Amino acid sequence: MQDSERTVFDVVVVGAGNAAFTAALTARAEGARVLVLEKAPKELRGGNTRFTGGVFRFTYNGIEDLIPIVRGNDNPDTVRVQPYTRADYLRDLERVTGGRTDPQLSAVLVDRSYDTVCWMAELGVPWEFNRAVGAVTIAGAAKVKLPFGGALRTKGEGVVLSSTLFRLAEEAEIPILYETQAQRIVTAPDGRVTGIEVRGPAGTHVLGCHALVLASGGFQANPEMRTAYLGPNWSLVKVRGTRFNTGEMIRAALAAGAQSYGEWSGCHATPIDADAPTYGELRLTDKTNRLSYPFSVMVNLDGDRFVDEGEDFNLYTYAKMGREILPQRSAMALQVFDRKTIPLLETRYNTGTPAVADSLPELAERIEARYRSLGFRKANFLKTLEAYNAAVQGGTFNPDILDGKRTVGLRPEKTNWATRLDEPPFRAYAATVGITFTFGGIRINAEAAVLDYLERPIPGLFATGEITGGFFYLNYPAGTGLMRGAVFGRLAGTHAARFTRG
Ligand SMILES: Cc1cc2nc3c(=O)[nH]c(=O)nc-3n(C[C@H](O)[C@H](O)[C@H](O)COP(=O)(O)OP(=O)(O)OC[C@H]3O[C@@H](n4cnc5c(N)ncnc54)[C@H](O)[C@@H]3O)c2cc1C
Repeated sequence: MQDSERTVFDVVVVGAGNAAFTAALTARAEGARVLVLEKAPKELRGGNTRFTGGVFRFTYNGIEDLIPIVRGNDNPDTVRVQPYTRADYLRDLERVTGGRTDPQLSAVLVDRSYDTVCWMAELGVPWEFNRAVGAVTIAGAAKVKLPFGGALRTKGEGVVLSSTLFRLAEEAEIPILYETQAQRIVTAPDGRVTGIEVRGPAGTHVLGCHALVLASGGFQANPEMRTAYLGPNWSLVKVRGTRFNTGEMIRAALAAGAQSYGEWSGCHATPIDADAPTYGELRLTDKTNRLSYPFSVMVNLDGDRFVDEGEDFNLYTYAKMGREILPQRSAMALQVFDRKTIPLLETRYNTGTPAVADSLPELAERIEARYRSLGFRKANFLKTLEAYNAAVQGGTFNPDILDGKRTVGLRPEKTNWATRLDEPPFRAYAATVGITFTFGGIRINAEAAVLDYLERPIPGLFATGEITGGFFYLNYPAGTGLMRGAVFGRLAGTHAARFTRG
């Protein structure tokens, strides 16, 4: 028997991503004896966090608020930044979720966002300006305009965020049990948490604890739960990140009396390379994303457009775009660009192999040759592009703003960044659906305590990150997942440690 099996820990944290470690490090700093459980083997550790682009959405008044976080890692003279206020963040959450986001939880998230990023920088997480995801680089411009609200990312993206958190845990002498899957919450007759049953290298046994923090992600990597909650078509989609977030602790929390909360039939799903692997791979991390579609014309295999590609900046539409692609035949979409828009492609497109041609009929031939078995409708594709080109209105194309340069007479219209596809070379990238994380989960309060159906905290049970529901519905503003996990991770760690003392 190992020491960890004999010891009753103050706080056991389930999971080893950003949400888990922000909780574990905080609880440790409060003086608690902390143990972390990681279901994955050591080489695959770190959850979705390790796959991320490292973008955090938080409030700031201007570059002066960012410089102390970025420190010497980057040059502020090379970027332009617009203030992102409390009101902006709350409005973004409100509008993309159709007014459904939990007002109390989202206010905590927003109000503690800046302070939490400063705290992470203080701990040793390195930051840089986010020039990669959602930023617009206009040829010849002296400065890159940083995305509204998403101005920073962790330097070295999710890979370095994850390795830094593991290093900090090691320095804080927090033990981590690998290949150890939490599966049942053990409670006393009065409902208090007393332990967690795990399945690990030593078999199945119970680890004693005074408080438990659940940070074990959503259920997106579980095809059975995807089918049950998201719907049948979701069983076959590709998973962008870790294969280990399979939702058993959501079920365990519900069995222990937790309230289910949020949009259980909803998820964050984006366009990714049609040739991406079935699960995320660490050599690719988030590089299979295909998010430059606002500057494309996007058609399905029947050659039809099906969505307003230019509804908003991609950081406000990408998370729901997967849902738009899913009902298309073979869950596939082709994003078509020409000479004018190719320079605007995110560098992540370099991981793909587009069809390339000097005329649209030739491009159609190449797509057909490549996807012959899928029955691409070439003639309709050309008809659609002809109608699109004819519907494009005048005005000045400007990728930096919602330029209002649109089509008229199409269904659906393209309402921003509509330029004709008329200058070779032409490129078509095939995209499919990649699920990132699920929106439904368990209910927490402003102290990250898990609530029962009477809205009472379950004594000793806390949660943070993807496992919690009520924040996101239908859609999501980029960079909020990591921020939510960290804000509520700190709260969970603080309150779990205090609970054990009380
Ligand atoms: C490709 C990609 C790119 C992304 N980019 C961004 C971005 O730039 N910005 C952003 O904000 N968000 C991004 N996200 C979303 C982001 O990853 C999540 O919102 C965030 O990482 C969730 O953190 P978490 O700690 O809750 O979950 P995770 O980081 O997934 O951690 C969950 C942990 O729990 C473990 N686990 C699961 N079940 C058990 C169990 N039963 N017992 C023990 N351990 C268990 C897992 O192995 C894992 O270690 C991205 C996601 C992906 C996939």
